[in-house]
Amino acid sequence: AFTADVVPQAPEDPLFGLMAAYRKDTNEKKVDLGIGAYRDDNAKPWVLPVVKEADDLLRKDPDLNHEYLPIGGLVAFNQASQKLILGKDSAAIKDQRVVSLQTVSGTGAVHLGSAFIAKFYTPKTAEAKAIYISSPSWANHNQIIDNVHLPVKTYPYFSKETKGLDFDGMINGLESAPEGSVILLHACAHNPTGVDPTREQWTKIAEVMKQKKHFPFFDCAYQGFASGSLSTDAWAINHFVDQGFELMIAQSYAKNFGLYGERAGCFHFVAAPAGNAQDTVARVGSQLAILQRSEISNPPAYGARIASLILNDEKLFAQWEEDLRTMSGRIKSMRKALKSHLDQLGTPGKWDHIMEQIGMFSFTGLNEQQVGRLRSEFHVYMTKNGRISMAGLNRGNVEYFAKSMDEVVR
Ligand code: PLP
Repeated sequence: AFTADVVPQAPEDPLFGLMAAYRKDTNEKKVDLGIGAYRDDNAKPWVLPVVKEADDLLRKDPDLNHEYLPIGGLVAFNQASQKLILGKDSAAIKDQRVVSLQTVSGTGAVHLGSAFIAKFYTPKTAEAKAIYISSPSWANHNQIIDNVHLPVKTYPYFSKETKGLDFDGMINGLESAPEGSVILLHACAHNPTGVDPTREQWTKIAEVMKQKKHFPFFDCAYQGFASGSLSTDAWAINHFVDQGFELMIAQSYAKNFGLYGERAGCFHFVAAPAGNAQDTVARVGSQLAILQRSEISNPPAYGARIASLILNDEKLFAQWEEDLRTMSGRIKSMRKALKSHLDQLGTPGKWDHIMEQIGMFSFTGLNEQQVGRLRSEFHVYMTKNGRISMAGLNRGNVEYFAKSMDEVVR
């Protein structure tokens, strides 16, 4: 029954394919700038010291077992996650306007939100029942939204000319979307471009979205990773909450705790302050629980336990902030190093955007052919769209990468 015309061969996931090709490459100069995972100055995965400490504490706990978590996940983790993203003194939390479920990392949270929209969202016009993502966006957004049978639409985001935000294009896109559309926004450290709106621009985006009664869905995969400050990176979300929006948040702990494979994340629904918000979150929460139960039954425990231990302990929390500054600081220093090597080489083109972009990634502006040459001639691996994971650079390879780049753009 499952012949090729019914089930055609799907292409390999481009990012995971890239990783496999990198692993096979035996050249000692090879550089991995593909996957968005932090690497230390020796190009090695980094277990955050605070995570190591929490892990040791957990393993010593004689009461640790492998029982199921509740459907919504670890309660202490969910509560701490609310505080982390909305702030300790959040009015929304005090008013009990937030319902949160632990998810299978950020991907699971984006999925749960999308599934909820697909099942329950009833905008005035049928054409508003779609999720708008930035152009470009994290590639998986397309598939996750498509999987729940919602149309994926896009709003302009990146300017090829300035390699910065196409702010006018974005505003026009939001204005011309049907009233009440769901708009997916990257909370900080936009993937793949590394380009974030300024606070002034966020303020305008919120104004337009309010006028158009759009529904914000924030994807926050890099809190603390972009600027090094947890509250700075949550600013946009909190601005929208302060403006009285009803909204959803997908929160990932993959990058900021380095808990990639442990799949710790959280989904939040925040009801608007007007009306009977507590009743809304109770109803919404009950339906989210059914979605969760039918899909994963209950979330994985270990990563959430580690995160929860750190989030709920003042001393560990302070150490975590230190570790975040280590990661974001090293990435910023690599931006500087790359830019200054390109300056020294007199590489044709303008490269200021490398310094201006933020977070894990830089959208270099290298084209597909240049990316191809980097891989075949220089053993440098990056995605076809010219995105580099800044964390793949270190003091040992940044000059080699700059020289390789220099050769392919000449
Ligand atoms: N959203 C964005 C924008 C991302 O870049 C990522 C990871 O690359 C995720 C969500 C989800 O990551 P995870 O499922 O590993 O938490």
